[in-house]
Amino acid sequence: MEVRERLDRRIAELEPEMVGTLCDLVALPAVSPQDGGLGEGAKAAYLEKKVLDLGLPPCERYDAPDPEAPGGVRPNLVVRVPGTGAGRLWFFSHMDVVPEGDRSLWTQDPFVAQVRDGRVYGRGANDNGQELVASLYALKALRDLDLPPAFEICLAFVADEELGSRYGICHLLDRHPELFSPQDLVLVPDGGNEEGSFIEIAEKTPFWLEVTVEGKQVHGSRPDLGKNACRGANELSVALDRALHRAFPETDPLFEPPVSTFEPTRRLPNVANVNTIPGREVFCFDCRLLPSVHPDAVEGVVREEIRRLEETTGLRVTYRFVQKGDPAPPTDAVAPVVERLSRAVKDVLGKTPRVGGIGGGTCAAFFRVQGIPAAVWAQESDTAHMPEEYTDISHLVHEARVFARMMRDL
Ligand SMILES: [Zn+2]
Repeated sequence: MEVRERLDRRIAELEPEMVGTLCDLVALPAVSPQDGGLGEGAKAAYLEKKVLDLGLPPCERYDAPDPEAPGGVRPNLVVRVPGTGAGRLWFFSHMDVVPEGDRSLWTQDPFVAQVRDGRVYGRGANDNGQELVASLYALKALRDLDLPPAFEICLAFVADEELGSRYGICHLLDRHPELFSPQDLVLVPDGGNEEGSFIEIAEKTPFWLEVTVEGKQVHGSRPDLGKNACRGANELSVALDRALHRAFPETDPLFEPPVSTFEPTRRLPNVANVNTIPGREVFCFDCRLLPSVHPDAVEGVVREEIRRLEETTGLRVTYRFVQKGDPAPPTDAVAPVVERLSRAVKDVLGKTPRVGGIGGGTCAAFFRVQGIPAAVWAQESDTAHMPEEYTDISHLVHEARVFARMMRDL
């Protein structure tokens, strides 16, 4: 029998076990301590044992210190299997999950998985348990069939993705750079669509700005005695909107929309009554920059508009970044990781996926910033972070088949 068929048959046999493992993972919530949870400790301990039970080499552990976590650390695990040829292929999935959200919108306990209608329901089943299990059992299928991978395979199960990856991927990249090489192939299976028809190779840079305008609060009848922060914030918001759009008109057809976006968003409440002139106003912009637009250049335009407002009104303006990313160069559409992934997806799903960019942001950007090409792909329903989150079992199986092909370089 051909290798593909043997792999697919083995993965089909493993399906009940994959579903069982996914259900076990749902029961180990791994909500970040910063979100009021217990972190990834229990899930990591389960996975360390599971990996051994599956006959795979023991996990390497890369703990990130976090005083807020039970035990003081956030665990990151790497399962490493040598290959027959040179090179290394990474699969990054994250162990942490977001909290359940509004409990009344769930018809079940979010942390007790339910299997019905070909789906596994539960928090984290989709994001990112599905891909974690798919990568684990792709490797297990190869092992069961005594098929060595074509290159070294590393499965990484990381912490803290939902809150910025400081204790997860960033910890690995910053504190254990020896783990990576620019020649590595990196797949982050943490985003995709129902058809599995999209490979993400680029992200816009997040540039989230919070601006505070300060004046002098007075009675509504005596504006002459105060300095109206509300008017200043209105003027500045409109001026910023115009200036940013004018200064950065670049387009890039890789993205949808094909431009940098500059959107006024949150406005904090100011005064509670009509007849008080506000002395303080806070507003935000959600900007997402094309990789060719440097965040420092955008900040320059922001500073110039602020200076102008301060000069003409006497108001005081400060700003801070809620998020200011580093520009991440797009992964080449014909990079080896994209090419291999594309081939495997076509083989399993029958269609060549299209490549493109998104508004951001996944942790693939951290690799791209370091010059390591990374691709993001998954076949998944759009249920991450939602109540009644679920995973389609057929997607789970397809992903395992895609990953197994990549591991064997079929
Ligand atoms: Zn995720």
